[in-house]
Amino acid sequence: MTTELIRIELTVMGDELDYLTACLATELSYGWEEEVLPDGRARCIIHAENELFAQELLAAIAARMPQVEVRRNLVPKADWVEAWKVFFTPVNCGTRFIVLAPWMEEEKAQALSQGRIPIIIEPKTAFGTGHHASTSLCLSGLSRLLDQGRVKAGQRFLDLGTGSGILGIGAAKSGLSGLALDIDMLAVENSLENRVLNGVEDKMEVRRGSLGPVGHGGDHGPVTEQFDLIFANILAEPLKALAPYIVARLKPNGIIILSGILATQAHGVAAAYTYHGLPEPQYEYDGEWSSLIIGGDQEAL
Ligand code: SAH
Repeated sequence: MTTELIRIELTVMGDELDYLTACLATELSYGWEEEVLPDGRARCIIHAENELFAQELLAAIAARMPQVEVRRNLVPKADWVEAWKVFFTPVNCGTRFIVLAPWMEEEKAQALSQGRIPIIIEPKTAFGTGHHASTSLCLSGLSRLLDQGRVKAGQRFLDLGTGSGILGIGAAKSGLSGLALDIDMLAVENSLENRVLNGVEDKMEVRRGSLGPVGHGGDHGPVTEQFDLIFANILAEPLKALAPYIVARLKPNGIIILSGILATQAHGVAAAYTYHGLPEPQYEYDGEWSSLIIGGDQEAL
């Protein structure tokens, strides 16, 4: 294990920040820090463990935004963990949820007294702290579906691409039970850790794996169950490729929440699901990000 991390600073003009974060979101499976400089420019700070990964990331960013000013150096690893303590802010998602770090005891007590469900996330490299629009769109979607009675306690969920476990934990704390899958072992570990922090070990099974040709259910063989609710916050292209497998794992009248989709890609992703017989989605937008809610009992709408 290395004791140093590569710290990369990417600086752009203030109005270029949205595009830079969109680029980062397609390249990085975990978070970064953002700051606005006194001169109005904006900066994203990324920490990477692996030199090859850092080089590939910088090449991908340079190909899309050659004007980005890049600075990099090495920092002690412990500083990064400490930095999270400064940068991790509570995030309200929808009317029901608030995402907190384990050390935010006071905020947790306050949230509980206000009737919000705290989701505790130990910030590590797995994606999913609620700070990214693609995650908060899923949780606010879940919040609304619960309010509308279209998702209910006692139902079964599949959290495909669980990352930190955040979506599955939100569902488990709302009375559902289910399965969380990820192809990345580090995500599986983080999700298992967060499952314990939230006391939902008996409500959420976590495994390495996926649906369809990628992973075939991982270490445990193919997933054969059908679910009432499926979350998949991945990216547009894999979501299109996974469409037949996701649709096959959905109960009749079940609901799919898809995210990780740039607004410009939303209709293309939707087409892959309507092709497999599902109704037109409801589209939700947050800045340049979008999520799709597909299915459910259309008569009840
Ligand atoms: N669900 C979390 C994390 C989303 S990040 C949230 O909403 O914030 C996307 C996750 O999907 C990553 O952890 C990545 O490892 C995983 N992933 C990517 N492709 C996948 C696939 N084909 N099957 C399963 N997981 C996948």
